[in-house]
Amino acid sequence: MRPHGGRHQSAGEPPVKRRTLFLFAGAAGSGLIAGRLSAEPLPREEEADVVVVGTGAAGLSAALATVSEGARRVVVLEKAPMAGGHTIISSGSLAAEKSPEGIVGLTNEILETGEGRADPQLARTLAEGSWGAVERLSALGITWITTPFRAVGAPSARSWNSGSPQSGYDYVQVMMAALRKTNAAVRFLTRAEGLLLSGDGRSVEGLYARTRAGDSVLIRTKAVVLATGGYTASKALRRRFAPELPPELETTASAGGELLDGADGDGILMAEMAGAKLVDMDALQMLPLAGGRLLDYVGGEVWLNDSGERFVSEGAGFREIERAISSQPSKAMWVISDARSPKGATLGLKLMDGTVREAQTLHEAARGMGVPYTALEETIARYNRSVRKHWDDDFGIPMRGLPVETPPFFYGREHFALHYSCGGIAITPRAEVLRPDGLVIAGLYAAGETTGGVHGAARVGGCGLTDAFVFGDIAGREAARRVRALTDRAKAS
Ligand SMILES: Cc1cc2nc3c(=O)[nH]c(=O)nc-3n(C[C@H](O)[C@H](O)[C@H](O)COP(=O)(O)OP(=O)(O)OC[C@H]3O[C@@H](n4cnc5c(N)ncnc54)[C@H](O)[C@@H]3O)c2cc1C
Repeated sequence: MRPHGGRHQSAGEPPVKRRTLFLFAGAAGSGLIAGRLSAEPLPREEEADVVVVGTGAAGLSAALATVSEGARRVVVLEKAPMAGGHTIISSGSLAAEKSPEGIVGLTNEILETGEGRADPQLARTLAEGSWGAVERLSALGITWITTPFRAVGAPSARSWNSGSPQSGYDYVQVMMAALRKTNAAVRFLTRAEGLLLSGDGRSVEGLYARTRAGDSVLIRTKAVVLATGGYTASKALRRRFAPELPPELETTASAGGELLDGADGDGILMAEMAGAKLVDMDALQMLPLAGGRLLDYVGGEVWLNDSGERFVSEGAGFREIERAISSQPSKAMWVISDARSPKGATLGLKLMDGTVREAQTLHEAARGMGVPYTALEETIARYNRSVRKHWDDDFGIPMRGLPVETPPFFYGREHFALHYSCGGIAITPRAEVLRPDGLVIAGLYAAGETTGGVHGAARVGGCGLTDAFVFGDIAGREAARRVRALTDRAKAS
């Protein structure tokens, strides 16, 4: 037996002792431990058909799909005290297309935005499965807005939501309600720590987890779905794969650093220790979404530099936005909207803590921002003229939206935070985890933001959730089918 564990460990993770690995390998019978995120004495053992790790869009989709494919003993692990991960705090913009032309259009947008680094098969799988995600959520009770909108960071209007400013919460709510009606056991405050592989390292035999009581448990299973989200919150992984990023950079999930952000890359580390290939790990997406922005759609707010002028189209792709803000001397911008545009769920909170302020006139807003009033007035007047004629005079491109003219105005300072991990575990279109030699690790599946290759260098706005819903569903189905096939084979022999 050969311990994989520890070989690829990142500097920031607790060391896995060689001796302990052998001890566990021996204790675990025929299998070998593929690397645990901590080391300690013999765990208690139990069995499951499928273990799903994570309760965001990917994990919940996987769990529901697994159950609907007939898997009986399904265990869902969540290290946080509640379900939802980044999904529950997301704006809920979900890119989805039904028609063949729409599917081709969405696939092409993903490939173009990914700057040639997205895997065409994965991109197409996302687009083809996107409407299925909408239908599954509809079946669980989500109702949708009637016309798609253009999410920030999206080239065109393909996104849907539930019509509420907290659509991400709505999705998690209905999926958790559905999961509670099944036999799946959802365990909160339980952290997956490592995978157990077969002696040849080719297939999954189990998963180690730490329970809420602090005990270690080995769940023996033939199928694990890693749906642990991204690694934006892992300083160790950021240092390792994107050392140019300032270490103090906050995440959009926890702007201010006060909230629990579980995007530690746990699944990525576990998969890597099991011999999985990682792709596009340098592709971390930054977004101005840590301060004054209140909307997640294009056409309701104006972005300004410190001179009170627009410096980038609010509808630009995430990469262009990143470049434009980085080139500002302050690396920050002002955002202004008015009373008419429908706002996200954070308005009340941001007004309360002063992140966003209210002004009755543009004059008052200019004073609050410290930008020249004449420049602001001229910028907003030109913006409003552009909106009315559907042509953006500042950037020479088509434009849709609402004029910013109805008091009160809302304004705030906005800066970058880390938003999304484009890179992660390499998968096949069937969500099987790939090794560098192109073989899959049998029984190991991954879905959602923990994976890489779907988006390439950058992501289309609205496609993060679609990715998680689509590949979560695929992973869950594949996991259940594997277990069924193995059971049938065992019965036949
Ligand atoms: C503020 C914000 C707004 C966003 N808005 C949008 C949007 O409108 N549209 C869009 O497409 N995308 C959006 N995104 C991105 C999108 O929300 C995510 O890409 C998507 O929700 C990821 O889903 P997931 O299931 O892969 O991961 P998550 O939803 O993050 O879930 C992962 C779960 O795994 C758990 N976990 C991690 N490690 C372990 C472990 N070792 N053991 C047990 N559990 C573990 C975590 O606690 C978490 O609950 C937004 C992101 C943020 C932060």
